[in-house]
Amino acid sequence: MALKKVDVLIIGSGHTGGMAAKILTEKGIACTMLDAGPMINWERDRTLKPVSTLPYRGFDAPGRLPHVFQSSEFSANQWIDEKVIPYNYPAGQQYNWVRVRSVGGRSPYWGRQSFRLSDYEFKCKDHDGFGENWPIDLKTLAPYYSRVEAIFRVEGAYDKLPQYPDGNFVEDKSPWSQAMQRFIAAGTKMGVPVTKPRSSLGTGGMAASINLLIPDAVATGKLTTIPNSIVRQITVDKSTGKADGAIFIDRHSHREMTIKARVVIVAAGTLETTRLLMISDICNGSGVLGHHLTDQIYGAGIAASVPEARNGKATRTITGGGALIPRFRNLDTKTPGFLRGYAVNVSASNGPVDARWFAEYGPALDKKMDEYSGSGFTTNIMGETLGHYENHVELNKQVVDAWGMPTLTIKTKYTDNEVNMAKDMVDTTAAMAEAAGFEVLAKNYQFNPPGYSIHEQGTARMNDDPKKGVVNQWNQSHDVKNLFVTDASVFPCAGWQNPTMTMCALAMRASEYLADQMKKGVV
Ligand SMILES: Cc1cc2nc3c(=O)[nH]c(=O)nc-3n(C[C@H](O)[C@H](O)[C@H](O)COP(=O)(O)OP(=O)(O)OC[C@H]3O[C@@H](n4cnc5c(N)ncnc54)[C@H](O)[C@@H]3O)c2cc1C
Repeated sequence: MALKKVDVLIIGSGHTGGMAAKILTEKGIACTMLDAGPMINWERDRTLKPVSTLPYRGFDAPGRLPHVFQSSEFSANQWIDEKVIPYNYPAGQQYNWVRVRSVGGRSPYWGRQSFRLSDYEFKCKDHDGFGENWPIDLKTLAPYYSRVEAIFRVEGAYDKLPQYPDGNFVEDKSPWSQAMQRFIAAGTKMGVPVTKPRSSLGTGGMAASINLLIPDAVATGKLTTIPNSIVRQITVDKSTGKADGAIFIDRHSHREMTIKARVVIVAAGTLETTRLLMISDICNGSGVLGHHLTDQIYGAGIAASVPEARNGKATRTITGGGALIPRFRNLDTKTPGFLRGYAVNVSASNGPVDARWFAEYGPALDKKMDEYSGSGFTTNIMGETLGHYENHVELNKQVVDAWGMPTLTIKTKYTDNEVNMAKDMVDTTAAMAEAAGFEVLAKNYQFNPPGYSIHEQGTARMNDDPKKGVVNQWNQSHDVKNLFVTDASVFPCAGWQNPTMTMCALAMRASEYLADQMKKGVV
């Protein structure tokens, strides 16, 4: 069955598909959005069931989600079942691909940490010689960041650090606890900045496409959303070389349909976008499609205790609150052992402590945990990983998903750069905690496998040279001029920053460019 030709076809309804839909429909352009997953009923679906009623008592059903460390039985249904849409990797190269398939994509579930990239990232190659620069800089993207921050209501303090650019914030004027003040003072002596974290307040605790972006598009009367529609191929008119629509499969009936479109926007999330472009056999004139896969390392850090807060004495004045150490390595000086840098999530908790921080067993452990309760202090790394060409994905035609689509083989591994970076972070934050008068209980140099941060990027990177990049600075395919990619596959480097603000700012900029080009009749 064929549907009538649409102006803009958007594939994916997460943060970036939602942003494209909002911007384009508000400019009067009709959009049709296909998403592979179902519509979710947020109010109904987020009701927590008592753990005693769950068959696996909070643990996952075995086998469904071996790589989603973030999953528990409470959240198991939000993630993609790895048996239904499998992927694989070579022995010894574990990759944790964390995916969501429902209208809104990952946007209802993200942690909402919201950062701008700085020119240390946009002009990374100029700074240290590795990889490629972005074809844009902070000045170019700043006006879009400001508008995105207003939509998402990003809370933050103004720190005036070039590596941590300020934005359009709901100002965070909350006081620091005494423990945090001591940690900040220790950092100042060591040249390590400790700042307020930045995150999207959104509305009602949610900052998703389904509450902040898609409703605005729906209100224009110009958006048609078709859930349960798995795009299996983007089609190209051979006579023009332009995309002319897509073939999609109904998730339930497996019935195949075609849709014709003047413009196609691919916003399926980095690796699904890459898979779809590869299956469609388009957009790879550069030879870099699928390569330079990157993300951030997570997991390494320390656990400490604030002595004054032990034995039931914790108050919010003494301890508590969060902080962020933005990148401070390899800015004006060169740190031996690794390129780029890391940020650190810092947390002082008034709650119970983790049994894994102590060497005791039995009653001695119980006693220790009672004593230390309310005094916990942790640091966690967010470290930039390097997008080597060798870190890549390939189509695996031997293994298909439940709808007959070839799956991905992911071949990526971390190097000494990440190992040395994690060591530097653990040793530095342990020294800061000790200087602040805390007891360091555990140092964890081990970080999680690639993919775990859920910030996969780089496999359809942006470069103004068609030999080096899949899209240009407007997120427009070099090869297929009426095809735009809006997700983080276009990032030339990862930075230490969580990527979603940058993705949304780019999607906004690309959509405005596209609207202009459509008006002029160029696209
Ligand atoms: C638990 C968690 C915490 C996070 N914390 C943060 C954070 O603090 N800060 C931050 O910046 N980022 C964070 N992220 C990452 C953030 O959620 C993502 O960067 C962002 O939401 C990705 O948006 P997207 O538009 O690229 O794609 P997605 O949200 O992945 O949406 C893609 C959509 O495309 C659809 N799709 C895929 N394939 C097809 C197909 N073939 N046909 C049709 N539709 C298709 C999917 O169903 C999905 O709905 C977090 C993510 C998670 C899950």
